[in-house]
Amino acid sequence: MYHMGKDEIEAFDTEPPLELKLVPGALHRGHPIVLTPHTEGRERLVVLGSGWGAVSTLKALECGAYDVTVISPDNYFIFTPLLPSVTVGTVEFRSVLEAIRRILKRTRGSYIEAAAVDIDLERKMVLVEQAGEDKAWVPYDRLVIGVGAQSITHGATGLEYCHKLKTIHDARSIRQHIMANFEKAVRPTTPQEEKQRLLTFVVCGGGPTGCEFAAELYDFLTEDLKHYFPKAVQEMVKVVIVQSQDHILNMMDSVISEFAEREFARHKMTVITNSRVLSIGETSLKYKTCHPDGSQTEHEIPQGFVLWSTGLSLAPFTRLLCDKLSDVQKNQHAIIVDAHLRVKGVADGSVYALGDCATVEYPHLLNHITELFDSAHHVGSSEITRAEFRVFVKEAAAKYPSAASHLLSLACDFDRFDTDGNGRISIDEFEHMLEYVDSKLTALPALAQVASQEGVYLGHGLNHLAKVYSSDEATRLKAESSPEARRGIEAHAVAPFMYHHRGTLAYLGRAAAADFGEGTTFRGSNLAAKYLWRSVYWNQQVSLRTRLLLAMDWLKELLFGRDISKF
Ligand code: FAD
Repeated sequence: MYHMGKDEIEAFDTEPPLELKLVPGALHRGHPIVLTPHTEGRERLVVLGSGWGAVSTLKALECGAYDVTVISPDNYFIFTPLLPSVTVGTVEFRSVLEAIRRILKRTRGSYIEAAAVDIDLERKMVLVEQAGEDKAWVPYDRLVIGVGAQSITHGATGLEYCHKLKTIHDARSIRQHIMANFEKAVRPTTPQEEKQRLLTFVVCGGGPTGCEFAAELYDFLTEDLKHYFPKAVQEMVKVVIVQSQDHILNMMDSVISEFAEREFARHKMTVITNSRVLSIGETSLKYKTCHPDGSQTEHEIPQGFVLWSTGLSLAPFTRLLCDKLSDVQKNQHAIIVDAHLRVKGVADGSVYALGDCATVEYPHLLNHITELFDSAHHVGSSEITRAEFRVFVKEAAAKYPSAASHLLSLACDFDRFDTDGNGRISIDEFEHMLEYVDSKLTALPALAQVASQEGVYLGHGLNHLAKVYSSDEATRLKAESSPEARRGIEAHAVAPFMYHHRGTLAYLGRAAAADFGEGTTFRGSNLAAKYLWRSVYWNQQVSLRTRLLLAMDWLKELLFGRDISKF
């Protein structure tokens, strides 16, 4: 993703962006219209968001291909995988941020600090709200939606007493809260029971974010706070992870889940599985545990800090768009896009969505996979052996690389479908498997690497379309053809998106693990693993500036430890 030299040198060669003004006297539904830059023969590309998907698109765009305008409430990109490190001061806030205007400079794009709150698909305009005050319509020829997602509540109450970890403000308030609790706990006037409560840190959700936060907290306690706080206080510290599934990191290979659980047990952290958080109060948390015999028990624990990190749902803007396209947009968690990342239901294909707010639908792929199976195993056969199943999965994976990681992981999942354990699955069980593939294919994981690959794909695709439409003849054809015809022409011009899973990393507190798919994993519980994990993220930085800042932060931490001031 990072192109040292090219990006940064070109950024200083370009002119500053144009000033954005309102169209004099023009109103649409009571709000003014912004005059975005519009060069003759170029389309206006409006990008919503400044996260992984949006920034990867911007970095892949060729200079001069479009008149670009970015709209986001945050005027920076956050390198989210390092946010847990920010909560305890392993790295500083500014080291994980890059200003969106710096990223935009190469394409000479404009930026508006605002959130999209409405869309007029017919007039091709988005309504943006600036700092909750002024609203204005921004016209587009093509729109890229990369607004991410928001935390899902799972019906739990009292989320106002929890921290979330999505923004730099979240990381900052977590850092302050941790230090405030330690300072209150050492006050001579604080009762013993209150000390115990203040030093109980609960993480709701055993996914990568929750586990990495717990791991960073452990490092902070054992590497820094132990030098500055009395032993009796340190011994009271409890880190508790409440997980609804039977294992933490359950989206990774089971070998990694078990490794993480062993590491956390070694660090004396408590992992409570098969448990759902019911409510959070100011000083306690209630959860319900489901036992293997089907019985359920409710528990209440005192807490001084809660992190809520339990999955994603639609953000308000994406929900609104899905409601407008409710005939075809039926997914509760994300906008459905086709294999070219175009929002389903927008006739001319001018609206794209990517990253956490989108889910790719590959209907043809599933049909092809079913056909492939029928031709390989004859429709009439009633059972499939494990060996036949493996051969089929490999053939399908070779033919459809975008689905390869999901398909190959199925090969390890034979037992899930072989319910009677006789080494064969019936056609009925096979159909369940296809439904499972279907759900997997339409749900790429909510990962930075998915958003980033989609962004690079979209950026290159948009560059290509700009070239396709650069001749007068093509421009005339575009103007004369129907929206549906244009959608078809563009689908032929750009190949479908293919996701290549490059592995998932997790930091586990002086230990790290990686899942490369197909049963290939890496686990290490030593300093080398920690530095290997850091080197991967150092390599993925979006600018030379953040690389330098990160290197300095890590060196500072090595020499002086983390900052423990309550700032
Ligand atoms: P985001 O990166 O969330 O960006 C959304 C952008 O949209 C933001 O700039 C936001 O300000 C803007 N926005 C929001 N609403 C509006 C609106 N209405 N109008 C305009 N703009 C709007 N993934 C990994 O692969 N590896 C990891 O190690 C990893 N660690 C993570 C750790 C943490 C703490 C978190 C929170 C996530 C982590 N992820 C990781 C997941 C990864 O960050 C997301 O999958 C990725 O950020 C998704 O990118 P996105 O562009 O869809 O959304």
